[in-house]
This record gives sequence, structure tokens and C-alpha cells, in this order.
Amino acid sequence: MEYLFSLEIIYLIASVTYIMGLKMLGHPETARKGNLIAAFGMGLAIFGTIFLYKGEVASLIYILIAIAIAIGTIIGWGVAKKVDMTKMPELVSLFNGMGGASAALIGLIEFSHYTGDQISIFTILAGVIIGSISFSGSMIAWGKLNGTLNKPIRLPAYNILNNVILVAILAFATFIVLTGADSQLFLYLLFFAALAYGVLFVMPIGGADMPVVISLLNSFTGLAAAFGGFLYGNMVMLTGGILVGSAGTILTFAMCDAMNRPLASVIFGAFGEGTTGSDASKQTSQGSIKKTTPSDAAILMNYANQVIIVPGYGLAVAQAQHVIHELEVLLEKKGVKVKYAIHPVAGRMPGHMNVLLAETNVDYDKLIEMDDINSEFQNTDAVLVVGANDVVNPAAHNDPASPIYGMPILEVVNAKSIIINKRSMNPGYAGIENELFFNQKTSMLFGDAKDVLTKLVQELKNM
Ligand code: NDP
Repeated sequence: MEYLFSLEIIYLIASVTYIMGLKMLGHPETARKGNLIAAFGMGLAIFGTIFLYKGEVASLIYILIAIAIAIGTIIGWGVAKKVDMTKMPELVSLFNGMGGASAALIGLIEFSHYTGDQISIFTILAGVIIGSISFSGSMIAWGKLNGTLNKPIRLPAYNILNNVILVAILAFATFIVLTGADSQLFLYLLFFAALAYGVLFVMPIGGADMPVVISLLNSFTGLAAAFGGFLYGNMVMLTGGILVGSAGTILTFAMCDAMNRPLASVIFGAFGEGTTGSDASKQTSQGSIKKTTPSDAAILMNYANQVIIVPGYGLAVAQAQHVIHELEVLLEKKGVKVKYAIHPVAGRMPGHMNVLLAETNVDYDKLIEMDDINSEFQNTDAVLVVGANDVVNPAAHNDPASPIYGMPILEVVNAKSIIINKRSMNPGYAGIENELFFNQKTSMLFGDAKDVLTKLVQELKNM
């Protein structure tokens, strides 16, 4: 009976919930449940560790743990409950940073307990370095996503500088491991150098390259936690860390694909090159635009055979996911085929559009990935772009000086007619003008997405 409730069994169950949760996160329909299952497993592992741990623990430690859990729960619950959907990516960055910081703190505390044990010191330093980079890098990413640090800041020869610092950090860590130096000063030097590297590593990244960095930092946190698990011989921490690390790595490769960036250039800092947002926004405009009204746009869609909706960040800002679904259902009732074109980096976090549309009852078969839908645009009568900009910008194909040059885009330019809804002529995240707005086939439907879509729905109902 005792065996049934042993910590190993608890850890096994928790590990299985992580794997199940991760698998379920792979589909919008099951993602919510998957998240809950994995969170339940995490809770089980935490409380199992507290109550079933066999070693001597002073009661003060239990009190401190209880206080930490209470504070963490209140802050985490409160923030997550209140956060706007558009602020979600920032929150994810912040949470990711906290994971990295925790892994680094473990190393700082444990360093002096493992003097002379080379493998453990290696594990500890790896956790400190990767966790610290992940923490400070995520904090900078957080600032970039919420707009506080919206311009890439580049020191002279930043690529060389960053790589020199990275090599110095690795060399210093190797020195500590090999010589068995147990100086706290060395440890803290390494810690601050890694923090500085995290800042310098993310700071220069501009334009549309953030998705790659965000997923890379995500995998760093997982890796740092896995080192913690290895140090303690704690299987559930190891499994959790490996899963986060490998999922983050897979995501990094997917994002690299989506941004058309080789991973080596991401790691060694050669990305974010090209015209920066601020320079690019100085481009002169490219001619005149054509405006349209909800009434004309409704007529165009009403008589189309197929309409493709391209959702982007603005849809999340406007919280227009429910009304866009209403529009889709209405069009379908009128015999118009409707699909959503999903770009992998639309919005501000990987999967942002899927998460957003999952809030409504959109049929997931209607969410078509970029590679599958691009060939369909040429046979599509009307494309409705709602709050998307960079992901439909032909400069990615036509302008080698553009910061998004080489990024695959949704080829809406091939459709027979294009309606673009946004509030103004302001650029998107990459800070660059979009020649699509000046295309002969394009009509601009200005206004907040929720207001405009509500009017479109009304017009369609009246037809
Ligand atoms: P963009 O940021 O390119 O454009 C969004 C557009 O939405 C803006 O041009 C804005 O124009 C419009 N908008 C804002 N609010 C509203 C509103 N209330 N109603 C209607 N329109 C609105 O978004 P995309 O989704 O096209 O591209 C995502 C960008 O973010 C890419 O550059 C990507 O690299 C980057 N990024 C993506 C991440 C990810 O993981 N997905 C992470 C970090 C960055 P206006 O102000 O005129 O209304």
C-alpha cells in the first residue's frame, strides 16, 4: 500500500500528465483540457514532493514553502484572470522568464553544496547560465512585446561583441568545472555575465524576428529546468524540463521555417539585419489607396463563391473573434465558402490566431495553414484581411532591403479582390509600409475590426 503512494508513482503519474497535456495542446479542440491535465500533474508533483519527501525538513521550510506557494498562486491567478487576450504573449514571456530565474536560483543556492563533484558543478553552472540568459532575455522580450522597447538597440559590432561574451562565459564556466574552484565570487561573475548576455542577445532583434527568439528562450527555460532535475535526480523535473526544452526546440525550428531564417544565424546573432522598423517607416508611400464601405464590402462578399479571411494581430486587439465567426456563419448560410488563412507568426505569439479563434466555435477544419492555402488565393473572389499587415506584405518577396525579406507570406495579392480592414495607414509590428494597400485590387475598409465586422454582419443580414 505504501508503495502505491510513493513519490515515484506520483512522479510517474505527473510525467504522464505532462506528455498527455502536451499532446492535447497540439489541437485547439483539446488544448484547454490538455493544459488543465498538465497543471493537475504539476500540482500533484509539487504536493507529492512536499508531503512524501522522506528526508529531514525543518518546519520553518514548510512554512516558507507554503508562503511562497500562496504568494505565487495569488499573483499568478490574479494576473492570468485579468490579462487581456492581446497581452497574453507578454505574460507568457514573463512566465517563461520566471522559469529561467528559478532554474538559475537553484544553481546559485546549490553551488557550495557540491564542491569537488565535477559533474554536479557542470550541471549547476549549465542551469545558472541557461536560466539567467532565459530570464534576462525574456524580460527584454516582454518589454519588446508590450512596446516599451519597440526599437532594436544595437551596440557597434554587436554580433562580434555578443559572440565574444558567449565564448568568454563558456570558457569561464569550463575553467570553474575543471579547476574545481569553489569561489562564490566566480559564480556570481558568471551569473551576471549570463544575465548581461541575455539582454545583449535579445536587444538588437528587431522587425519581425521576435517569434524565433521567443520560442528559443522557451526551450532554454526547459533545458535549464532539466539540468535542475538532473542535479537532484528528480525524475519529474527532468521529464518536465526535457519536454519543455524539446517542445521549445521543435517550435524554434518551426518558427525558423516560418521566418525563413537558418537556426545558425539565429543563434549567432546574424538576424534582425536589414532595414529596421524606424528606418523602414521612412519609406515614401507608394501611390494612392482606394477606400470602401461596409456596404460595398458586404456586396462583394455576398456574391463571392469563396471568401478567405486573414486574421492578424488587430483581430486580437479588437477582440473581434466572436463577430468574425458570426460573419463566417452568415456567409456560409448564403452559400459562400469561407476559410481562414493562418500564418504561423500572425499575432504576437506562436499559435496566437488559433488560440484566439478557439475562443469562438469556429470549425477547426476551416483554419488552413499558410502552405496549404497559398495556392487557393488565385481562385478566390474576395479576401478579407482583418488586422493583419506584415504577414501579407509582398515586400517579403520583392524588397531585399526589407527586414521581413525572405519571410514566407500569405499570398493574398493573387486573389481577385482584397478588402483590408485596419484603423489607419500605420505599419504593423515590423514598422514597414505595405505595398499591398496600394494594389489596384485592394480596397481599404478603415475602422476598428469589431465595429467594422459588426457593420458588415448587419449589411449582410439586410441583403
Ligand atoms: P501586424 O503587427 O503586422 O499588423 C497588425 C495590424 O493590425 C496593424 O497594422 C494595425 O493597423 C492593425 N490593428 C491594430 N488594432 C486594430 C483594431 N482594433 N482593428 C483593426 N485593425 C487593427 O500583425 P500581423 O499579425 O500581420 O503580423 C504579426 C507580426 O508580429 C509579424 O511581424 C511577426 O513577426 C511579429 N511577431 C509575431 C510573434 C508571434 O509569435 N506570432 C511574436 C512577436 C512578434 P492600425 O494601427 O492601422 O489599425
